[in-house]
Amino acid sequence: MSYTLRYFFLFCLTFLFATHVNSQNTPTDYDQYLIKRDSLLTLDSLLYFDADVTLSSEEKILNKQLKHLQGKMLAHYKANHFFPPARNFYQSKEHIESTTLFRFINKMPKGGILHLHIGAIGDADWVLHKAWDTPEMYVYWSDDNRNVKGAFQAFKKEDAPQGFVQVHQLINEQPETYQEMRSLLVFEEEMNADSVDIWKEFELIFARIDMFINYAPIYEDYLVHGLQLLAEDNIQHAELRGPFLDVFYDLDNKPGSLGIEAHAETYERIYKRITSIDPDFTFKIIHCSLRFEDRTTIWNEMEKVYAYRQQYPELIKGFDMVAEEDAGYSTLYHAKEYLRLDSLERQYDVDLPLYLHDGESNWPSESNLYDALLLDTKRIGHGFNLFRFPALVELVKQRDVPMEINPLSNQILGYIRDLRNHPASTYLRRGINCTINSDDPLIFDYHGLSYDFWSVFLAWELDLASLKKLARNSIEYSVLEEDEKVEALRVWEERWGDFIEEVVEGFSF
Ligand SMILES: [Zn+2]
Repeated sequence: MSYTLRYFFLFCLTFLFATHVNSQNTPTDYDQYLIKRDSLLTLDSLLYFDADVTLSSEEKILNKQLKHLQGKMLAHYKANHFFPPARNFYQSKEHIESTTLFRFINKMPKGGILHLHIGAIGDADWVLHKAWDTPEMYVYWSDDNRNVKGAFQAFKKEDAPQGFVQVHQLINEQPETYQEMRSLLVFEEEMNADSVDIWKEFELIFARIDMFINYAPIYEDYLVHGLQLLAEDNIQHAELRGPFLDVFYDLDNKPGSLGIEAHAETYERIYKRITSIDPDFTFKIIHCSLRFEDRTTIWNEMEKVYAYRQQYPELIKGFDMVAEEDAGYSTLYHAKEYLRLDSLERQYDVDLPLYLHDGESNWPSESNLYDALLLDTKRIGHGFNLFRFPALVELVKQRDVPMEINPLSNQILGYIRDLRNHPASTYLRRGINCTINSDDPLIFDYHGLSYDFWSVFLAWELDLASLKKLARNSIEYSVLEEDEKVEALRVWEERWGDFIEEVVEGFSF
């Protein structure tokens, strides 16, 4: 429903309220108070992001059961003074998995995941077993700080530098090192540092896994495995953020020498393999550069990505810049490059839409969102601090710029402790369209989107209409072309219909 239409309804409601009160001879003060109160509640609900969702009769039945379950769970948590979305995720992970709500959300067709980093989509045990089974995979296993302890890289035996140990041999001879390596790849309950220290840990993990993933013989299996985990969580579309550059290597070729064609061909094989698991599964790439790179490096990467998008327009869909915002260059610092992109657009005769990671900060003075919107970002990655900028809130609503919300990532990285206070709850109520994402699930030691949906369903007291709208948004605001979107929505609606039928008939709440 458009805002104009909503305000028209609002006007009518106020009018009805006024005439109702005038027509009553003796309404008590309390009656009048309740009428006014209801009007305000209705007025607000018309502004919610899901105000245009109409539930079918079956969905209404299901919504009743779901809200009943939510009410029971909230009462239980209140009585026990322990509300999982307000606490450290790792204290509740097993509990979450044991709940009826988790089984329900796991089954729910969630549409797409629009914010997910290639270096962190899989499972840590899969990574370790693959490294263990790959004879040429080595790990830096020394505390001398000359390299990152736990960093993987493939070598010919005679080329392995000092400090690198064959993973196969290390785990076979010292089985306890498996668990040590695992703890260097994932966050755990004990981690209780402030957000700055957590970011340091976070970047170390990417440094450890980088040369494991980019080893050409492993990349394909890693990505198929990661996408399969998404499909198992009833996700049908993934937008992967990562560098689409010549970064692959093998034992005879250093990064930069295999050619971008090797990267693109790998994606073709990945596509064939994932569609043999789910024939309707789709994925696309949003290239990411690092925000702490200098202007020349960024410009050179932008130029390459334009050339690659011209070559692979079906695969490369956009550009982004990642890494810790508070530590890296601001978006304003790189605005000069962004403002020159039209010259590359003319040169390569192709566009390169921006999907900028911005607003992932707790600092009131951090103002990257101004630049993201001025530069016409198609979506906002995070937008955590949007609430601090009233003019931008209005702009986001007017332009209908969707937000890629990463609830557990924000909590684990220390931006917010209690998810009830997450600003996205307010965005949804103000009519800003959002999607739910998991950012870096490998590092956070979970899979898919169910944990995030579980947490916000309770923390933001959502209902079936909001879950439906969030899932639908993930396709509506995806990078898919219009015809692909129509097809993806058809698939999602069919799956959603089957899900509702199955749950109404046989799910035990
Ligand atoms: Zn991210």
